[in-house]
This record gives sequence, C-alpha cells and structure tokens, in this order.
Amino acid sequence: MTDKNTSTDFEVVIVGAGFAGLYMLHKMHEAGRTARVYEAGSGVGGTWYWNRYPGARVDIQSVEYSYSFSEELQQEWEWPEKYSAQPDILKYANHVADRFDLRKDIQFGTRVESAIFDEETSSWDVTTDQGDSVKAQFFVMATGCLSAANKPDIPGRDNFSGDTYYTATWPKEGVDFTGKRVGLIGTGSSAVQSTPVVAEEAESLTVYQRTASYSLPSNNTPTDPEFVAEIKANYSDFRAANRKMMAGTGAQYAAMLNDPILTYSSEEQDRLLEAAWDKGGFTFASVFPDVVTDYDANEVAANFARKKIAEIVEDEATAKLLMPDIVIGCKRMIIDSGYYETFNKPNVDLVDIKNHPIDEITESGIRIGDDHREFDAIIFATGFDAMTGAILNVDIRGRGGESIRDAWHAGPRTYLGLTTVGFPNMFVVTGPGSPSVLTNMIVSIEQHVEWIDECINYMDDNEFSTIDASLPAQDAWVDHVNKEAENTLRTDPNCNSWYLGANVEGKTRVFMPLAGFPAYKKKCDEVVAAGYEGFSLV
Ligand code: NAP
Repeated sequence: MTDKNTSTDFEVVIVGAGFAGLYMLHKMHEAGRTARVYEAGSGVGGTWYWNRYPGARVDIQSVEYSYSFSEELQQEWEWPEKYSAQPDILKYANHVADRFDLRKDIQFGTRVESAIFDEETSSWDVTTDQGDSVKAQFFVMATGCLSAANKPDIPGRDNFSGDTYYTATWPKEGVDFTGKRVGLIGTGSSAVQSTPVVAEEAESLTVYQRTASYSLPSNNTPTDPEFVAEIKANYSDFRAANRKMMAGTGAQYAAMLNDPILTYSSEEQDRLLEAAWDKGGFTFASVFPDVVTDYDANEVAANFARKKIAEIVEDEATAKLLMPDIVIGCKRMIIDSGYYETFNKPNVDLVDIKNHPIDEITESGIRIGDDHREFDAIIFATGFDAMTGAILNVDIRGRGGESIRDAWHAGPRTYLGLTTVGFPNMFVVTGPGSPSVLTNMIVSIEQHVEWIDECINYMDDNEFSTIDASLPAQDAWVDHVNKEAENTLRTDPNCNSWYLGANVEGKTRVFMPLAGFPAYKKKCDEVVAAGYEGFSLV
C-alpha cells in the first residue's frame, strides 16, 4: 500500500502499542492519516502487557491513571480497585483498542529493527524482524520509559538449572511457586510488589537487597462508588486540576501541601507525616515541598519512614537492614501492599548484598562467600535500562547516517524531550528531557501525543515536509534539564537511581527526566505559539 499524498507506505509509523502508541494511533485515525503500529508483543498494553509478575499494580489511583481524551470512555469505564492490578489495566487497554477500532493498524509480534532517515525524500525507512520494509514520513517512538529489561550479568547467571524469571517479561501463563524455594534479586517497585504475593505461595523466599528502598503503604481499597460518582460528575475539572500539579497528579491532596517541614515543631511534623502516611500512596511523598530540595527536611521524612519500618518489622536486625540510608525520594518512591510485614513471616529471609555482591549464580542457587543457598526458582526484579534503552535498541540513523547511539553516547540529548537534532520527523513520546516518569505517565502521554498531532497538522497546513530541532535550542534545553535536576536531591551522589541511568553498568550518569509538568506544558505551548520556535521547518 502506498500513501496517496507522499509516496510513502504510511504517513506515520509508530513503535509500540502501549498507552502512548494506542493514543497516537487514535489521533492519526481522527486526522485521517495512514499509520502503522509495530508491536513486539502479541497484544496491546505495553508495560502492562509485559509486567505480569505477581502483585503488579499501578501506583497512581486508577481514576487518574487512565485516558482523559474521551469523555464517554472515562464515564463508562469502571475500575474495581483504587489502585488497579495489572490484569484490570490490561483489560482497559484492550477495551480502548477495541472501542476505537485500533487493532486493524497494529502489527503484533513484530519488533522494529532499524529506522533510517532518507534525506532525498525526507522520510524514514523502517525495517522489522518480520521482514517488513516500509517508508513513512514520520517516525514515532512510543516505546515507553521502562520497557527494556535490565538483565545484570551476574557471574554464572545462565548456569542455573532451576527456573529463571524476570519481572519485566513475566510468562503470560503465570507461575505457581507453591512448594518452591525462591530467590528474588532486587528491592525496587517490582520486587516490593511481588515479594508479599510470592511469599504467600512459596515454601521459602529469600530476598537479595543491594539498596534498601523507601516504600509507602498504598492503603488500596475496592473502588468507593461515592468517590467515583463525585469525580465522574466533574471529570474534566478533576483532570484539569491534576494537570496543574507538578507531577500531573495529586490535586485531591493539594490541601495537604504545607509550608516547609522544618517550620513545624517535631510533634507537628510527626502528626502531619502520620496523617499523610495513613492516607496512603504518594501523599506522603508530596506533603512537604522541601523534602526533595533540602537535606535537613529530607532527613525528617526519611527518619519517619525508618521509624515506621522499625514499628512493622519484628526482627530488629532485619528491620535495620530494611531501613534505607539514601535520600528519600531520590529514587522513585514505592507504593506497597504489605511489603515490610512480609519479613515477619517465618518462610521469608532477607540477605543484604550491599557490601558483598552476589559472587555467582550456581547450577543450584546463589553463592555469596561461603553462603550458598539452593533455589528452585530465581526471580530477577532488576528493573530497566530506563528512558533510553528501548530507543537505543533500535538502529536509528538520522541525517548523514548518524546513529542515535553515537548522538546520545554521553547521555540523551533532546529538545523538549520530543525530538533530537539530526533526526528529522522523528518524535519520542515521553522521551528523556520531558517530565514523563516524574508524572502520572498518562497525563504526559496525552500531552505529548496531542503536541505531535498538532505539529503534523501544522506541517500539512503549511506544506512543510521536514521538521528538525535546532542545535542551540537543544543545547539550551539540555542545560535547562540539567540545572533543574541539580536543584533537587535526586542527583545526590550516593543515589544510584535509574533516573540517572546509574542502575545499568557503563551507562552515562545523567539525570534524564525533567520535573514539573505545568511549566513544561507551558513551554511546549509557547514553542507552538511562536511558530515552532527552536525548530527548523522546511
Ligand atoms: P528498580 O527500581 O530499578 O529496582 C531494581 C532492583 O534490582 C533494585 O533493588 C536494584 O538494586 C536491584 N539490582 C539491579 N541490578 C542488580 C544486581 N546486579 N545485583 C543486585 N541487585 C540488583 O526496578 P523496578 O523495581 O522494576 O522498578 C522500576 C520502575 O518501574 C519503578 O521505579 C517505577 O517507576 C516503575 N514501576 C512501577 C510500579 C508501580 O507501582 N506501578 C511497579 C513496578 C515498576 P539497586 O537499588 O542497588 O540498584
């Protein structure tokens, strides 16, 4: 099939059928454009398709972690729980795909291998592992920020004769751990969510912890019909209020946003932190504005969280090991359902590997010094090559054949987190340099997709065939992102977060997202109002 206007096969090729890819495709349908989505999985849902590990659930309440673009959709959909579990979110993604007739333009089971910019025709030549070779005017990476699994090269990793699982690519058919001795590596969100569920089933569970994490109780509940009815009565106001928040979420608790924590007496601090902790979820993380900018304030919140761990975990030595020694909030906070309580179970054990990493994975288990433990299964909850991994996994070449891997060798460089110089007509949804992972992802996805859609319409209306960011605009943007990061404690040198790429060996340490959704959106709108300032349009 050749597109009638541009002699390309499609006007737009989109990589990924997660929440970003689905909405991008829907917008292209609305605009009457030819579009093809390539998706490696056999179904839609992206992160919610792949991350099927036990206990996987969203950490932003579902009335917010859902599309706002269709009033009918947001009115008709019913979430069973406040923080929905992965199967319910996947059901929702499938519903969206059917409701908006998206599947006809999604090719499943297909991984994009390369995308080469053709300077003659100002279009992209895209190839896949299924032998497709197509041309498109626009190339959109909707590959998600947390989709390329981090599989650390622990010595002997492939020698284990038991079952090996990665939380990021969990088997579709599920796993029954009944009667099994399980070793679990990692204590990030995926590990913290799966630990209580695996512990219920397994004969024994040993958790290997390199860095203790701060985890907050979700206080998840079945959906409160009154609360939802109230929101649905004014859903667009509720969405608009959230878009005004730094992270595009949490307007409901805005009234709790207080003065700097250090201005309160210690009794008051305790009372306010206790109230935020009891509310559950990210309320605790956002209750004081200075916690992520001031070390003393941070220590107050961190100490409160450590005190909670001491109250919950009965064994004093285990409680101590579980108490984080890093800045609170420098890594993404975790929302759990009974994580710390799990360590009171007789079949659960914690092994601290901070000072002595795993020496090897043997045929039958994990060895650290003289301590060799045998397992039937090992779970790697070791996270992702975040924000850039999925992009760099595709062989993308822009002007002059320059590879994006070379262009980003010292860290990602983008203008607005949407485009990168030398790669014209290519857009990244929620790319590095945009608020993305520091927000409710759906809010950021919608804003990016709408910006890209509007940009393509503008190009059509004005008969432009090519858009590329300018180098000064990109350099200034990268500086801005770096400066904003330096103003917070998230770049603390003792904190090796995936925001910094510090969780992946050899990756350049640079803070990739940009905090502050409202200011970012304002900037994107201003760029448009000024005739796509910082871009060159041909
Ligand atoms: P993560 O936060 O990066 O955690 C990975 C864990 O594996 C860390 O504890 C890490 O230790 C450990 N690890 C990595 N390599 C290791 C090695 N070689 N040896 C020993 N330990 C190693 O990954 P994640 O838990 O998958 O979460 C990533 C992000 O995905 C989250 O921050 C969140 O944004 C998102 N997520 C969200 C939810 C949700 O609630 N909706 C659930 C899951 C994930 P170190 O800390 O020492 O590096």
